[in-house]
Amino acid sequence: MTGISSTTKRAAGDLTVLPRFTRDTVVSVPKDRMPDQEMLPQSAYGIVRDEVMLDGNARFNLATFVTTWMDDEADRLYAETVDKNMVDKDEYPQTAEIESRCVRMLADLWNAPDAADAIGTSTTGSSEGCMLGGLALKRRWQHARRAAGKPFDRPNLVMGQNVQVVWEKFAEYWDVEPRYVPLEGDDLYLTADRAVRFVDENTIGVVAILGSTMEGSYEPVAQICAALDELEEQTGLNVPVHVDAASGGFVAPFLQPDLVWDFRLPRVASIQASGHKYGLVYPGVGWVLWRHTENLPEELVFKVNYLGGNMPTFALNFSRPGAQVLLQYFQFLRLGRDGYRRIQQTCQDVAVHLSEALKDMPEFELVSDGRDLPVFAFRMADGIRKYTAYDVSRKLRERGWLVPAYTMPPNREDLVVLRVVVRNGFSHDMADLFLRDVRVAVEWLDGLAAPMPQEEEPAGFHH
Ligand SMILES: *Cc1c(COP(=O)(O)O)cnc(C)c1O
Repeated sequence: MTGISSTTKRAAGDLTVLPRFTRDTVVSVPKDRMPDQEMLPQSAYGIVRDEVMLDGNARFNLATFVTTWMDDEADRLYAETVDKNMVDKDEYPQTAEIESRCVRMLADLWNAPDAADAIGTSTTGSSEGCMLGGLALKRRWQHARRAAGKPFDRPNLVMGQNVQVVWEKFAEYWDVEPRYVPLEGDDLYLTADRAVRFVDENTIGVVAILGSTMEGSYEPVAQICAALDELEEQTGLNVPVHVDAASGGFVAPFLQPDLVWDFRLPRVASIQASGHKYGLVYPGVGWVLWRHTENLPEELVFKVNYLGGNMPTFALNFSRPGAQVLLQYFQFLRLGRDGYRRIQQTCQDVAVHLSEALKDMPEFELVSDGRDLPVFAFRMADGIRKYTAYDVSRKLRERGWLVPAYTMPPNREDLVVLRVVVRNGFSHDMADLFLRDVRVAVEWLDGLAAPMPQEEEPAGFHH
């Protein structure tokens, strides 16, 4: 590593002496104010790299959904294409062409009725995809209301209380009333009957999540659509569905090909997914697609006539990295459907192996089992009083495992769960190490002496 000796270099043109990084001389690094002087690139590199070594080890991170490993060839491709700006479609026409190929492949994967008429774009992640999908819903509703001579100033969006935070942001940023359907008993996600009760003439759409972030279950998209079909028959209200398939968009087509959740359902207007989750690309890419060009109101699409043809763009960002889009195409070519199926199946096998083993431990009860997404949540069994899920999470962290503990959303804040996300690269061997550490953790927590009696409080001290 860096036992670099202290050397100096004269900057071109002046006599500024730039000290080279050594462990013993760099005592503190600038944090609040840009330093006045330059330093050598090696020094800056050493400082930044050393600092991020303090981050957790990604391999032990069972909290994140985001890709932390790709082939060496992908790393090389990344390094060679970091300079590509996605928006520069005339300068990088081939990158733009590759983006279009990815959109067509996803339209096909998600069973768009006419892949040539589907429209979509890469984004920086699902969050941007949700914003765009939600905006299109809002605009289409406004147009329809205006055309019917009805008020269009009070739009609402119906979704489960378990939605990812991006939908709260969407509602706040774009002035849409969020209609959260509360959890109920064992219903820890949106169900059809509960969704429909929240819908009215001001509803721009219903969000169904393919893979609840909270515990990994798929919301019943087909049932939600059927309930909305029925509502339309009875009331004439035609409410579209956006599927938030952040994780499931790259899992269900491979592991649950018979599950009908996508454009096979005529009511599904748009779908977004995170290329950087189970799409198996490093952070920075997502996708959003609309069933038909007409699902995306024209005024939201800006036409740029680079390339001689018309290039539609619809995005919040202007400049953004193009390399991730190339990496997505790399994965599509490299893995094909078989490769994606094999990887997601391995993740699921590991997830189910883990959840079964935890189910057999008297300390825990499963909340979900990893058979939808390779993600599951578990909680402390009722009899466990000495320690909590938070203690287990903290204890596992000592061994490097990041397993978040949190309360479920309203009405089930009483339920504290631990969640495990199995990603590509989390092997059966690591799973067994993890189980061993879970057993050690609960034994240690169980063996703790009863809490020390509280010290006498000073007289006159009240909480
Ligand atoms: C992760 C996630 C998002 C946000 O996706 P990003 O790609 O991180 O922006 C939205 N919805 C769900 C269900 C998610 O799991």
